[in-house]
Amino acid sequence: ALQRYASIRDRPAVTLDGHRVVLRMNAGLMADLPSLESSGAEGVGLFRTELQFLVRNKMPKRAELASIYARVLDAAKGRPVTFRTLDIGSDKVLPYMKRTEEPNPALGWRAIRVALDKPGIMRMQLQALIRAANGRALTVMFPFIAQLEEFEEGRDILMRELEREERLGHPLPETVRVGAMLETPSMAFAPNRFYERADFISIGGNDLKQFFFAADRENERVRRRYDSLNVSFLGLIEHIVARCNETGTELSFCGEDAGRPAEALCLAASGLRMLSMRPASIGPIKHFLLRSRLDEIKDVIDTARAEGAQSVRPAVMAYLAERAG
Ligand code: PEP
Ligand code: MG
Repeated sequence: ALQRYASIRDRPAVTLDGHRVVLRMNAGLMADLPSLESSGAEGVGLFRTELQFLVRNKMPKRAELASIYARVLDAAKGRPVTFRTLDIGSDKVLPYMKRTEEPNPALGWRAIRVALDKPGIMRMQLQALIRAANGRALTVMFPFIAQLEEFEEGRDILMRELEREERLGHPLPETVRVGAMLETPSMAFAPNRFYERADFISIGGNDLKQFFFAADRENERVRRRYDSLNVSFLGLIEHIVARCNETGTELSFCGEDAGRPAEALCLAASGLRMLSMRPASIGPIKHFLLRSRLDEIKDVIDTARAEGAQSVRPAVMAYLAERAG
């Protein structure tokens, strides 16, 4: 698949009506790194750091993590890499970490909630990231932020670790950017301060959709029941885009939908200008973007909505089929 899109690999994704869409890749394992070259990714939009913890049978050491993160930054060759701090709990359980059974793990003690209650592991991880950056740019993103305070507390912990590392004589990163994943509907309606304080926001569409429709993403019976192109969900996305535009906050989308053509086109037409996806999806998505007009797709969406459609998918698919034919 990567071969097929080799001719457009080094081209930026610009739509026919002139909109530039930045395409980055999701990663988490060392095996993903060669894709930085082969896919044409403009950086790593989501580095899922928990994967390094999940493939081990004991807690990794700080030095070990620092060397892994340094290799990721080396492989990116100056392209931005967004490191998401540990997103454990829910479906991702560390075999060596003691935890109690929870009735609803997806709604339970997970991700930033664990990190704020027991900050030891995240602090160690942040130290490893600062050392890995070794004077280069560092971008950190906190998962599963559900209210403003969680973002501020996470950022405060990072700031304290930066001061500590400096005292210990480690070089500080050239720049530090701190962002939040938007994965719960609550954050679409968060105080303005959240949008002002975050250096960037990335929509975690997998979780956002799960919580918006109250449909478990792990449950085969319900996980495909609600369409990502449902007008309600698109409305939520548009609201987030509008809020980010008001405050000038950088926004990206890093759920699996970013790698699906109709979804990616609708996200771009709704104002998303940065998408992060599986490396193998970058070529195909770029191919579609290069041949699309976002203004037309936006019209198709608005017309379908005005006509009372539940999902804009049929209209968007008909439009794409017509243009291909
Ligand atoms: C998401 O929720 O959309 C996301 C990108 O994070 P993860 O799939 O790792 O939960
Ligand atoms: Mg998520």
